[in-house]
Amino acid sequence: MAGIVYLVGAGPGDPGLMTRRALELIAEADAVLYDRLIPPGALDGARPNAELRYVGKQPGAPALPQDEINALLVELARAGKTVVRLKGGDPFVFGRGGEEAEALAAAGVAFEIVPGVTAGIAASAYAGIPVTHRDAASAVAFVTGHEDPAKEDGALDWDALARFPGTLVLYMGVSSLGPIAERLVAAGRDPEEPAAVVERGTLPGQRTVRAPLAQIAERAAEAEVRPPAITVVGPVSGLHDTLAWLERRPLHGHTVAVTRARAQASELAGRLRALGADVVETPVIRIEPRPLDPGLAERIGDYSLVCLTSPNGARLLLEALPDARALAGVTVAAIGPGTAAELERRGIRPDVVPERAVAEALAEALVEVPVEGRRVLVARAGEAREVLPEALRERGADVNVAALYDTAAEPLGEAQREGLARASYVTFTSSSTVRFFLEAGGEVPSGARVVSIGPVTSATAREHGLSVDVEAERHDIGGLVAAILEDATP
Ligand code: SAH
Repeated sequence: MAGIVYLVGAGPGDPGLMTRRALELIAEADAVLYDRLIPPGALDGARPNAELRYVGKQPGAPALPQDEINALLVELARAGKTVVRLKGGDPFVFGRGGEEAEALAAAGVAFEIVPGVTAGIAASAYAGIPVTHRDAASAVAFVTGHEDPAKEDGALDWDALARFPGTLVLYMGVSSLGPIAERLVAAGRDPEEPAAVVERGTLPGQRTVRAPLAQIAERAAEAEVRPPAITVVGPVSGLHDTLAWLERRPLHGHTVAVTRARAQASELAGRLRALGADVVETPVIRIEPRPLDPGLAERIGDYSLVCLTSPNGARLLLEALPDARALAGVTVAAIGPGTAAELERRGIRPDVVPERAVAEALAEALVEVPVEGRRVLVARAGEAREVLPEALRERGADVNVAALYDTAAEPLGEAQREGLARASYVTFTSSSTVRFFLEAGGEVPSGARVVSIGPVTSATAREHGLSVDVEAERHDIGGLVAAILEDATP
Protein backbone atom coordinates (compact mmCIF):
# COMPACT_ATOMS: atom_id res chain seq x y z
CA MET A 1 0.00 0.00 0.00
CA ALA A 2 1.22 3.49 -0.79
CA GLY A 3 2.21 5.60 2.14
CA ILE A 4 1.12 9.07 3.01
CA VAL A 5 2.77 12.12 4.51
CA TYR A 6 0.99 14.38 6.95
CA LEU A 7 2.46 17.86 7.29
CA VAL A 8 1.40 18.60 10.83
CA GLY A 9 1.58 21.74 12.94
CA ALA A 10 2.47 21.07 16.57
CA GLY A 11 1.52 24.51 17.86
CA PRO A 12 3.73 27.04 19.59
CA GLY A 13 5.01 25.00 22.53
CA ASP A 14 2.28 24.57 25.12
CA PRO A 15 1.37 20.88 24.71
CA GLY A 16 -2.26 21.82 25.34
CA LEU A 17 -2.30 23.73 22.08
CA MET A 18 -1.64 20.68 19.92
CA THR A 19 -4.67 19.74 17.89
CA ARG A 20 -6.55 16.55 18.41
CA ARG A 21 -5.77 15.62 14.82
CA ALA A 22 -2.04 16.09 15.41
CA LEU A 23 -2.14 13.76 18.43
CA GLU A 24 -4.14 11.14 16.52
CA LEU A 25 -1.70 11.14 13.63
CA ILE A 26 1.37 10.98 15.86
CA ALA A 27 -0.17 7.95 17.55
CA GLU A 28 -0.65 6.22 14.19
CA ALA A 29 2.58 7.15 12.45
CA ASP A 30 5.25 4.68 11.37
CA ALA A 31 7.72 7.55 11.20
CA VAL A 32 7.81 11.05 12.65
CA LEU A 33 10.26 13.64 11.30
CA TYR A 34 10.37 16.57 13.65
CA ASP A 35 12.01 19.94 14.22
CA ARG A 36 13.38 21.59 17.29
CA LEU A 37 10.44 23.82 18.19
CA ILE A 38 7.89 21.16 18.98
CA PRO A 39 6.16 21.02 22.37
CA PRO A 40 7.73 19.00 25.18
CA GLY A 41 6.23 15.54 25.24
CA ALA A 42 4.77 15.93 21.74
CA LEU A 43 6.05 12.50 20.76
CA ASP A 44 5.01 10.71 23.94
CA GLY A 45 1.98 9.23 22.21
CA ALA A 46 3.95 7.77 19.29
CA ARG A 47 3.97 4.00 18.84
CA PRO A 48 6.86 2.36 20.65
CA ASN A 49 8.30 1.05 17.41
CA ALA A 50 7.77 4.24 15.39
CA GLU A 51 10.87 5.75 13.82
CA LEU A 52 11.37 9.15 15.43
CA ARG A 53 13.80 11.30 13.57
CA TYR A 54 15.08 14.75 14.41
CA VAL A 55 15.78 16.70 11.24
CA GLY A 56 16.20 20.21 12.64
CA LYS A 57 19.23 22.24 13.53
CA GLN A 58 21.61 20.91 16.15
CA PRO A 59 23.95 23.19 18.00
CA GLY A 60 27.24 22.85 16.16
CA ALA A 61 25.85 20.72 13.35
CA PRO A 62 23.98 21.77 10.23
CA ALA A 63 20.31 20.93 9.86
CA LEU A 64 19.46 18.23 7.39
CA PRO A 65 19.31 20.19 4.13
CA GLN A 66 15.79 20.85 2.89
CA ASP A 67 16.15 18.75 -0.23
CA GLU A 68 17.29 15.80 1.85
CA ILE A 69 14.24 16.17 4.08
CA ASN A 70 12.04 16.29 1.00
CA ALA A 71 13.73 13.20 -0.43
CA LEU A 72 13.39 11.36 2.87
CA LEU A 73 9.66 12.11 3.05
CA VAL A 74 9.18 10.79 -0.47
CA GLU A 75 11.27 7.70 0.22
CA LEU A 76 9.41 6.80 3.42
CA ALA A 77 6.02 7.28 1.78
CA ARG A 78 7.06 5.15 -1.18
CA ALA A 79 8.07 2.43 1.24
CA GLY A 80 4.43 2.40 2.33
CA LYS A 81 4.92 4.27 5.58
CA THR A 82 2.53 6.60 7.31
CA VAL A 83 4.72 9.62 7.90
CA VAL A 84 4.14 12.61 10.15
CA ARG A 85 6.26 15.61 9.35
CA LEU A 86 5.88 17.59 12.59
CA LYS A 87 6.69 21.27 12.70
CA GLY A 88 6.39 23.97 15.31
CA GLY A 89 3.38 26.27 15.02
CA ASP A 90 1.66 25.98 11.67
CA PRO A 91 3.39 24.06 8.87
CA PHE A 92 2.62 26.71 6.26
CA VAL A 93 3.70 29.74 8.28
CA PHE A 94 7.46 30.15 7.84
CA GLY A 95 7.83 26.44 8.25
CA ARG A 96 8.90 25.51 4.73
CA GLY A 97 5.83 23.27 4.69
CA GLY A 98 4.93 24.72 1.32
CA GLU A 99 8.16 23.49 -0.20
CA GLU A 100 7.73 20.05 1.30
CA ALA A 101 4.18 19.79 -0.01
CA GLU A 102 5.40 20.81 -3.47
CA ALA A 103 8.07 18.12 -3.39
CA LEU A 104 5.47 15.53 -2.38
CA ALA A 105 3.08 16.67 -5.11
CA ALA A 106 5.86 16.53 -7.68
CA ALA A 107 6.72 12.99 -6.61
CA GLY A 108 3.08 11.93 -6.72
CA VAL A 109 3.04 11.13 -3.00
CA ALA A 110 -0.25 11.49 -1.14
CA PHE A 111 -0.20 14.14 1.57
CA GLU A 112 -2.46 16.03 3.94
CA ILE A 113 -1.93 19.27 5.81
CA VAL A 114 -2.86 19.69 9.46
CA PRO A 115 -2.73 23.34 10.49
CA GLY A 116 -1.37 24.30 13.86
CA VAL A 117 -1.65 27.28 16.15
CA THR A 118 0.99 29.64 14.85
CA ALA A 119 3.41 31.31 17.26
CA GLY A 120 2.55 34.81 16.07
CA ILE A 121 -1.00 34.46 17.26
CA ALA A 122 -0.42 32.16 20.22
CA ALA A 123 2.53 33.94 21.82
CA SER A 124 0.65 37.22 21.39
CA ALA A 125 -2.48 35.81 22.99
CA TYR A 126 -0.50 34.37 25.90
CA ALA A 127 1.05 37.80 26.34
CA GLY A 128 -2.37 39.46 26.39
CA ILE A 129 -1.99 40.99 22.91
CA PRO A 130 -4.94 40.60 20.56
CA VAL A 131 -3.39 40.80 17.08
CA THR A 132 -6.56 42.46 15.78
CA HIS A 133 -8.82 44.78 17.68
CA ARG A 134 -11.90 46.71 16.62
CA ASP A 135 -10.39 50.02 17.69
CA ALA A 136 -6.72 49.40 17.14
CA ALA A 137 -5.98 47.00 14.29
CA SER A 138 -8.08 45.79 11.39
CA ALA A 139 -5.34 43.84 9.69
CA VAL A 140 -2.36 41.77 10.68
CA ALA A 141 0.76 40.87 8.71
CA PHE A 142 3.07 37.95 9.46
CA VAL A 143 6.57 39.01 8.52
CA THR A 144 9.82 37.12 8.54
CA GLY A 145 12.49 38.96 10.43
CA HIS A 146 15.11 36.66 9.04
CA GLU A 147 16.02 38.94 6.27
CA ASP A 148 18.53 41.75 6.66
CA PRO A 149 16.51 44.88 5.92
CA ALA A 150 19.62 46.49 4.39
CA LYS A 151 19.61 43.89 1.64
CA GLU A 152 18.73 45.65 -1.63
CA ASP A 153 17.10 42.70 -3.35
CA GLY A 154 15.34 41.24 -0.30
CA ALA A 155 11.90 39.73 -0.72
CA LEU A 156 10.40 42.20 1.73
CA ASP A 157 9.19 45.68 0.87
CA TRP A 158 9.95 47.47 4.13
CA ASP A 159 8.47 50.73 2.90
CA ALA A 160 5.18 49.02 2.27
CA LEU A 161 5.38 47.28 5.66
CA ALA A 162 6.02 50.62 7.35
CA ARG A 163 2.79 51.88 5.81
CA PHE A 164 0.87 48.67 6.51
CA PRO A 165 -2.36 49.68 8.25
CA GLY A 166 -2.35 47.11 11.01
CA THR A 167 -0.32 44.90 13.31
CA LEU A 168 3.06 43.56 12.20
CA VAL A 169 4.07 40.25 13.70
CA LEU A 170 7.75 39.55 13.13
CA TYR A 171 8.96 35.96 13.31
CA MET A 172 12.59 35.01 13.93
CA GLY A 173 14.93 37.99 13.91
CA VAL A 174 15.89 38.51 17.57
CA SER A 175 19.28 39.69 16.33
CA SER A 176 17.95 41.63 13.36
CA LEU A 177 15.36 43.44 15.46
CA GLY A 178 17.48 46.61 15.70
CA PRO A 179 17.96 47.09 11.96
CA ILE A 180 14.33 46.15 11.29
CA ALA A 181 12.92 48.67 13.77
CA GLU A 182 15.24 51.35 12.38
CA ARG A 183 14.23 50.52 8.85
CA LEU A 184 10.53 50.73 9.71
CA VAL A 185 10.98 54.07 11.47
CA ALA A 186 13.10 55.41 8.61
CA ALA A 187 10.30 54.47 6.24
CA GLY A 188 7.79 56.44 8.28
CA ARG A 189 6.46 54.07 10.97
CA ASP A 190 5.77 55.98 14.20
CA PRO A 191 8.80 55.55 16.53
CA GLU A 192 6.41 55.84 19.50
CA GLU A 193 4.20 53.01 18.30
CA PRO A 194 3.93 50.32 21.00
CA ALA A 195 5.89 47.15 20.38
CA ALA A 196 6.40 43.95 22.32
CA VAL A 197 8.81 41.03 22.15
CA VAL A 198 7.43 37.75 23.45
CA GLU A 199 10.09 35.22 24.29
CA ARG A 200 9.25 31.50 24.67
CA GLY A 201 5.57 32.26 24.09
CA THR A 202 3.20 29.70 25.68
CA LEU A 203 6.17 27.87 27.24
CA PRO A 204 7.31 27.91 30.87
CA GLY A 205 9.35 31.02 31.45
CA GLN A 206 7.50 33.10 28.83
CA ARG A 207 8.61 36.74 29.05
CA THR A 208 7.38 39.89 27.39
CA VAL A 209 9.42 43.03 26.85
CA ARG A 210 7.41 46.15 26.03
CA ALA A 211 8.70 49.42 24.62
CA PRO A 212 8.03 51.94 21.87
CA LEU A 213 9.17 50.73 18.45
CA ALA A 214 12.26 52.96 18.46
CA GLN A 215 13.50 51.41 21.72
CA ILE A 216 12.27 47.85 21.49
CA ALA A 217 15.51 46.35 20.17
CA GLU A 218 17.60 47.94 22.89
CA ARG A 219 15.20 46.84 25.62
CA ALA A 220 15.09 43.31 24.28
CA ALA A 221 18.88 43.22 24.21
CA GLU A 222 19.07 44.54 27.78
CA ALA A 223 16.66 41.84 28.88
CA GLU A 224 18.80 39.28 27.02
CA VAL A 225 15.90 37.95 25.02
CA ARG A 226 16.79 34.73 23.25
CA PRO A 227 15.05 32.82 20.48
CA PRO A 228 12.39 31.74 20.03
CA ALA A 229 10.69 35.09 20.19
CA ILE A 230 8.22 37.07 18.15
CA THR A 231 7.89 40.82 17.96
CA VAL A 232 4.53 42.52 17.70
CA VAL A 233 4.47 46.06 16.34
CA GLY A 234 1.26 48.04 16.62
CA PRO A 235 -1.01 49.77 19.12
CA VAL A 236 -2.38 46.38 20.22
CA SER A 237 1.02 45.63 21.79
CA GLY A 238 0.20 48.22 24.43
CA LEU A 239 -2.72 46.08 25.58
CA HIS A 240 -0.18 43.74 27.14
CA ASP A 241 0.03 46.26 29.97
CA THR A 242 -3.61 45.62 30.88
CA LEU A 243 -4.33 42.19 29.43
CA ALA A 244 -1.20 40.26 30.43
CA TRP A 245 -2.56 37.23 32.24
CA LEU A 246 -0.13 34.35 32.04
CA GLU A 247 2.83 36.31 33.32
CA ARG A 248 0.70 37.53 36.22
CA ARG A 249 -0.30 34.14 37.51
CA PRO A 250 1.05 33.78 41.02
CA LEU A 251 3.55 30.98 40.38
CA HIS A 252 4.67 32.20 36.96
CA GLY A 253 8.44 32.01 36.73
CA HIS A 254 8.69 29.32 39.41
CA THR A 255 9.79 25.81 38.65
CA VAL A 256 8.45 23.24 41.08
CA ALA A 257 9.81 19.70 41.30
CA VAL A 258 7.28 17.03 42.29
CA THR A 259 8.98 13.98 43.74
CA ARG A 260 5.98 11.85 44.53
CA ALA A 261 5.13 8.72 42.58
CA ARG A 262 4.14 9.32 38.99
CA ALA A 263 0.74 7.73 39.50
CA GLN A 264 -0.05 10.25 42.21
CA ALA A 265 1.66 13.33 40.89
CA SER A 266 -1.09 14.54 38.60
CA GLU A 267 -3.25 16.33 41.14
CA LEU A 268 -0.37 18.27 42.64
CA ALA A 269 1.16 18.97 39.23
CA GLY A 270 -2.19 20.10 37.84
CA ARG A 271 -2.86 22.51 40.67
CA LEU A 272 0.60 24.01 40.45
CA ARG A 273 0.37 24.41 36.68
CA ALA A 274 -2.99 26.11 37.02
CA LEU A 275 -1.25 28.71 39.17
CA GLY A 276 1.36 29.25 36.48
CA ALA A 277 4.22 27.11 37.77
CA ASP A 278 6.52 25.17 35.52
CA VAL A 279 6.22 21.69 37.00
CA VAL A 280 8.96 19.12 36.60
CA GLU A 281 7.90 15.64 37.54
CA THR A 282 10.84 13.92 39.18
CA PRO A 283 9.23 10.83 40.69
CA VAL A 284 11.62 9.04 43.01
CA ILE A 285 9.18 6.51 44.32
CA ARG A 286 7.04 3.77 42.92
CA ILE A 287 4.13 2.00 44.57
CA GLU A 288 4.36 -1.79 44.45
CA PRO A 289 1.19 -3.45 45.75
CA ARG A 290 1.69 -6.57 47.84
CA PRO A 291 -0.47 -9.58 47.20
CA LEU A 292 -3.29 -9.27 49.69
CA ASP A 293 -4.39 -12.13 51.91
CA PRO A 294 -7.77 -12.92 50.31
CA GLY A 295 -9.22 -13.73 53.70
CA LEU A 296 -8.57 -10.18 54.82
CA ALA A 297 -10.95 -8.65 52.32
CA GLU A 298 -13.59 -11.30 52.97
CA ARG A 299 -13.51 -10.88 56.74
CA ILE A 300 -13.20 -7.11 56.84
CA GLY A 301 -16.62 -6.97 58.51
CA ASP A 302 -15.15 -8.74 61.55
CA TYR A 303 -13.18 -5.65 62.42
CA SER A 304 -14.73 -3.06 64.59
CA LEU A 305 -12.32 -0.38 63.38
CA VAL A 306 -10.31 -0.04 60.15
CA CYS A 307 -7.57 2.61 60.02
CA LEU A 308 -6.15 3.79 56.72
CA THR A 309 -2.92 5.70 56.90
CA SER A 310 -2.36 6.71 53.28
CA PRO A 311 -4.29 7.30 50.06
CA ASN A 312 -2.51 4.33 48.48
CA GLY A 313 -3.58 2.08 51.33
CA ALA A 314 -7.15 3.30 50.99
CA ARG A 315 -7.18 2.68 47.27
CA LEU A 316 -5.64 -0.79 47.47
CA LEU A 317 -7.87 -1.96 50.33
CA LEU A 318 -11.07 -0.79 48.68
CA GLU A 319 -10.04 -2.27 45.35
CA ALA A 320 -9.62 -5.61 47.11
CA LEU A 321 -13.08 -5.55 48.69
CA PRO A 322 -15.73 -7.50 46.82
CA ASP A 323 -18.34 -4.94 47.85
CA ALA A 324 -18.09 -1.66 49.76
CA ARG A 325 -21.02 -2.79 51.92
CA ALA A 326 -18.61 -5.16 53.66
CA LEU A 327 -17.58 -2.06 55.62
CA ALA A 328 -21.17 -1.26 56.61
CA GLY A 329 -20.79 -1.93 60.33
CA VAL A 330 -17.15 -0.94 60.60
CA THR A 331 -15.82 2.33 61.96
CA VAL A 332 -13.45 3.76 59.31
CA ALA A 333 -10.65 6.15 60.23
CA ALA A 334 -8.47 8.04 57.75
CA ILE A 335 -5.20 9.65 58.73
CA GLY A 336 -5.90 12.86 56.87
CA PRO A 337 -7.84 14.65 54.15
CA GLY A 338 -5.95 13.02 51.26
CA THR A 339 -6.78 9.55 52.51
CA ALA A 340 -10.33 10.64 53.29
CA ALA A 341 -10.73 11.97 49.75
CA GLU A 342 -9.54 8.66 48.32
CA LEU A 343 -12.14 6.83 50.43
CA GLU A 344 -14.89 9.24 49.51
CA ARG A 345 -14.09 8.82 45.83
CA ARG A 346 -15.00 5.17 46.38
CA GLY A 347 -18.17 5.84 48.31
CA ILE A 348 -16.91 5.54 51.87
CA ARG A 349 -17.13 8.55 54.15
CA PRO A 350 -14.66 7.99 57.01
CA ASP A 351 -15.97 8.37 60.56
CA VAL A 352 -12.75 9.77 61.98
CA VAL A 353 -10.30 12.18 60.28
CA PRO A 354 -7.88 14.08 62.51
CA GLU A 355 -7.01 17.67 61.67
CA ARG A 356 -3.33 16.95 61.37
CA ALA A 357 -2.40 14.03 59.14
CA VAL A 358 0.05 12.31 61.48
CA ALA A 359 -0.24 8.99 63.31
CA GLU A 360 -0.17 10.71 66.72
CA ALA A 361 -3.14 12.87 65.77
CA LEU A 362 -5.06 9.88 64.48
CA ALA A 363 -4.36 7.93 67.68
CA GLU A 364 -5.65 10.90 69.64
CA ALA A 365 -8.72 11.35 67.45
CA LEU A 366 -9.52 7.69 68.11
CA VAL A 367 -9.72 8.00 71.91
CA GLU A 368 -13.48 8.39 71.64
CA VAL A 369 -13.78 5.16 69.67
CA PRO A 370 -14.05 2.05 71.89
CA VAL A 371 -11.31 -0.42 70.98
CA GLU A 372 -10.67 -2.44 74.12
CA GLY A 373 -10.99 -6.14 73.37
CA ARG A 374 -12.02 -5.35 69.80
CA ARG A 375 -10.43 -6.18 66.49
CA VAL A 376 -8.72 -3.31 64.72
CA LEU A 377 -7.13 -3.34 61.29
CA VAL A 378 -4.36 -0.89 60.43
CA ALA A 379 -3.88 -0.97 56.65
CA ARG A 380 -0.72 0.75 55.53
CA ALA A 381 2.61 0.66 53.72
CA GLY A 382 5.12 -2.12 54.38
CA GLU A 383 7.45 0.33 55.99
CA ALA A 384 5.72 2.64 58.46
CA ARG A 385 6.00 3.90 61.99
CA GLU A 386 4.53 1.81 64.82
CA VAL A 387 2.91 4.75 66.59
CA LEU A 388 -0.68 3.95 65.74
CA PRO A 389 -0.69 0.16 66.26
CA GLU A 390 1.14 0.64 69.56
CA ALA A 391 -1.25 3.29 70.81
CA LEU A 392 -4.19 1.04 69.97
CA ARG A 393 -2.61 -2.02 71.58
CA GLU A 394 -1.97 -0.03 74.73
CA ARG A 395 -5.67 0.59 74.88
CA GLY A 396 -6.32 -3.15 74.75
CA ALA A 397 -7.18 -3.51 71.07
CA ASP A 398 -6.49 -6.67 69.12
CA VAL A 399 -4.54 -5.01 66.29
CA ASN A 400 -3.79 -6.56 62.93
CA VAL A 401 -1.36 -4.63 60.74
CA ALA A 402 -1.80 -5.28 57.02
CA ALA A 403 1.02 -4.11 54.76
CA LEU A 404 -0.70 -3.43 51.46
CA TYR A 405 2.20 -2.12 49.43
CA ASP A 406 5.85 -1.27 49.39
CA THR A 407 7.45 1.81 48.08
CA ALA A 408 10.41 1.30 45.80
CA ALA A 409 12.99 3.71 44.49
CA GLU A 410 12.52 5.07 40.99
CA PRO A 411 15.77 6.30 39.50
CA LEU A 412 16.01 9.88 38.21
CA GLY A 413 16.55 10.09 34.46
CA GLU A 414 18.69 12.66 32.74
CA ALA A 415 15.77 14.86 31.70
CA GLN A 416 14.54 14.80 35.28
CA ARG A 417 17.91 15.80 36.66
CA GLU A 418 17.96 18.69 34.22
CA GLY A 419 14.49 19.72 35.28
CA LEU A 420 15.45 19.42 38.91
CA ALA A 421 18.45 21.65 38.40
CA ARG A 422 16.09 24.47 37.32
CA ALA A 423 13.74 24.04 40.27
CA SER A 424 12.99 26.91 42.60
CA TYR A 425 10.91 24.62 44.85
CA VAL A 426 11.42 20.94 45.58
CA THR A 427 8.36 19.32 47.13
CA PHE A 428 8.24 16.33 49.46
CA THR A 429 4.88 14.76 50.20
CA SER A 430 6.09 12.03 52.56
CA SER A 431 9.14 10.83 54.44
CA SER A 432 9.69 8.18 51.83
CA THR A 433 9.91 10.76 49.05
CA VAL A 434 12.72 12.41 51.02
CA ARG A 435 14.62 9.15 51.51
CA PHE A 436 14.20 7.95 47.95
CA PHE A 437 15.08 11.36 46.57
CA LEU A 438 18.41 11.27 48.33
CA GLU A 439 18.96 7.61 47.48
CA ALA A 440 18.39 8.43 43.82
CA GLY A 441 21.16 11.00 44.13
CA GLY A 442 18.68 13.87 43.91
CA GLU A 443 20.09 17.25 44.84
CA VAL A 444 18.26 20.36 45.87
CA PRO A 445 19.76 23.06 43.64
CA SER A 446 21.31 25.96 45.51
CA GLY A 447 18.78 28.71 46.09
CA ALA A 448 15.84 26.32 45.70
CA ARG A 449 13.42 26.03 48.60
CA VAL A 450 12.48 22.73 50.17
CA VAL A 451 8.76 22.27 50.76
CA SER A 452 7.41 19.63 53.09
CA ILE A 453 3.83 18.44 53.52
CA GLY A 454 4.07 18.27 57.31
CA PRO A 455 6.16 17.82 60.44
CA VAL A 456 6.96 14.12 60.00
CA THR A 457 8.26 14.68 56.48
CA SER A 458 10.13 17.77 57.67
CA ALA A 459 11.78 15.80 60.46
CA THR A 460 12.92 13.15 58.00
CA ALA A 461 14.27 15.84 55.70
CA ARG A 462 16.22 17.44 58.54
CA GLU A 463 17.57 14.09 59.69
CA HIS A 464 18.96 13.68 56.21
CA GLY A 465 20.58 17.07 56.22
CA LEU A 466 18.03 19.04 54.21
CA SER A 467 16.84 22.34 55.57
CA VAL A 468 13.10 22.75 55.24
CA ASP A 469 12.07 26.21 54.07
CA VAL A 470 8.33 25.77 53.78
CA GLU A 471 6.06 23.42 55.73
CA ALA A 472 2.38 23.03 54.88
CA GLU A 473 -0.07 23.89 57.61
CA ARG A 474 -2.64 21.49 56.24
CA HIS A 475 -1.01 18.18 55.47
CA ASP A 476 -2.54 17.47 52.12
CA ILE A 477 -2.02 18.51 48.52
CA GLY A 478 -4.17 21.62 48.88
CA GLY A 479 -2.21 22.61 51.98
CA LEU A 480 1.09 22.08 50.20
CA VAL A 481 0.03 24.22 47.26
CA ALA A 482 -1.25 26.93 49.59
CA ALA A 483 2.08 26.96 51.42
CA ILE A 484 4.07 27.39 48.19
CA LEU A 485 1.69 30.11 47.07
CA GLU A 486 2.11 31.98 50.32
CA ASP A 487 5.87 31.64 50.18
CA ALA A 488 6.11 32.73 46.53
CA THR A 489 3.83 35.74 46.65
CA PRO A 490 4.75 38.76 48.71
N1 SAH B 1 5.84 27.49 11.72
C1 SAH B 1 6.12 28.25 12.92
C2 SAH B 1 7.15 29.31 12.71
C3 SAH B 1 8.50 28.77 12.34
S1 SAH B 1 9.71 30.00 12.21
C4 SAH B 1 4.80 28.86 13.42
O1 SAH B 1 3.79 28.84 12.73
O2 SAH B 1 4.78 29.34 14.56
C5 SAH B 1 10.40 30.01 13.82
C6 SAH B 1 10.07 31.29 14.51
O3 SAH B 1 8.76 31.20 15.06
C7 SAH B 1 10.94 31.59 15.70
O4 SAH B 1 12.16 32.19 15.31
C8 SAH B 1 10.08 32.56 16.47
O5 SAH B 1 10.08 33.85 15.90
C9 SAH B 1 8.72 31.97 16.23
N2 SAH B 1 8.35 31.10 17.36
C10 SAH B 1 8.18 29.77 17.35
N3 SAH B 1 7.81 29.33 18.56
C11 SAH B 1 7.74 30.42 19.36
C12 SAH B 1 7.40 30.63 20.71
N4 SAH B 1 7.05 29.61 21.51
N5 SAH B 1 7.43 31.89 21.19
C13 SAH B 1 7.77 32.91 20.41
N6 SAH B 1 8.10 32.78 19.12
C14 SAH B 1 8.08 31.54 18.59
